[in-house]
Amino acid sequence: MTISITSNQLFQRQITLLGSEGQKLITQARVLIVGAGGLGCPALQYLSSAGVGEIGIVDFDKISASNLQRQILFRPEDVGQLKVKVASERIRKHAPYTKIVDIPIALNEDSAASVISSYNVILDCTDNFHTKFLLHDFCFQERKILVQASVYQYEGQLQVFDFRNQQGPCWRCLWKIPPEDGCTGTCAEVGVIGPLLGVMGSLQAMEALKIILEKPFLKNGNTLFVDLLTLSMESRVFKGRKDCSCCVKKDLPRTEGIQIALPDRLNEFIIIDVRSRKENQECLVLKGLAGLEIINLPLEEVSSFLPVASKKYLVVCSKGIRSLKACRELRKNHSEVYSLLGGIEKLG
Ligand SMILES: [Zn+2]
Repeated sequence: MTISITSNQLFQRQITLLGSEGQKLITQARVLIVGAGGLGCPALQYLSSAGVGEIGIVDFDKISASNLQRQILFRPEDVGQLKVKVASERIRKHAPYTKIVDIPIALNEDSAASVISSYNVILDCTDNFHTKFLLHDFCFQERKILVQASVYQYEGQLQVFDFRNQQGPCWRCLWKIPPEDGCTGTCAEVGVIGPLLGVMGSLQAMEALKIILEKPFLKNGNTLFVDLLTLSMESRVFKGRKDCSCCVKKDLPRTEGIQIALPDRLNEFIIIDVRSRKENQECLVLKGLAGLEIINLPLEEVSSFLPVASKKYLVVCSKGIRSLKACRELRKNHSEVYSLLGGIEKLG
């Protein structure tokens, strides 16, 4: 692409504030954004507009109509396309001095370390506990700085974990036992207001810039609570846990590659649908699949199932939450059992 605007013209107002040394730090920075959804879109727009040297975008999901209310990089004609692909195309057009790297994969135990290792600052813009814990643990292990945000209806939380010295308090100090996905209700179940994602994603971008510019940023052990209904913003401190498995004992729990994206060779797997009989029988996605072995094994019956040692199993449910639970149970007897990330729709 021919660039007709110089970087000095583009970043003039910022250079006035930060000086050319500050701009140089931004140009040299490498930021990874995990999740190109409601938080990822504004974070990506502000960081690329600021001239961050390289931004990696991780997301394996496709755009759906219900995303457009808050995922402001996407348009109705993009529905069905990969978020990473559309986001990076849009960003390349408005941020000519930023290298954008598409990483269209589901982050898991096998891929996380290699994906995050070449970035300095990691933004957690995901919406599920499993990926948040995975990212947190790998950032700890790889000594990265993690900027994490989460949202619930009108409220958001922001945390920054500087793990360069592998010191806490960390997120596992706060959550001794990780909550199950869906326990607080997902955006799909309880709803979420669009501008909240704009505010929280922008706060993540701002913290990332402060880290890059070597300015003071939110400390480990602080949570910033944002409530857009009452317009309050308050930072609260939480204490480190003396027996923390992460920042004290450095003994992180592992679930090797338990969650996977849709495999290329699906016919090598026996599919286990852990939804109810009714959900299974009414499922149009399953009706459209031919030549695959599919078992309906409702979650409450999983403990009595004995997998065949020579077979590989792919466990599915509606969103990938029950299937993960079932998968953990089935792995007590067999290691070749995987949970399909994103749920049954990914089979369609
Ligand atoms: Zn800890």
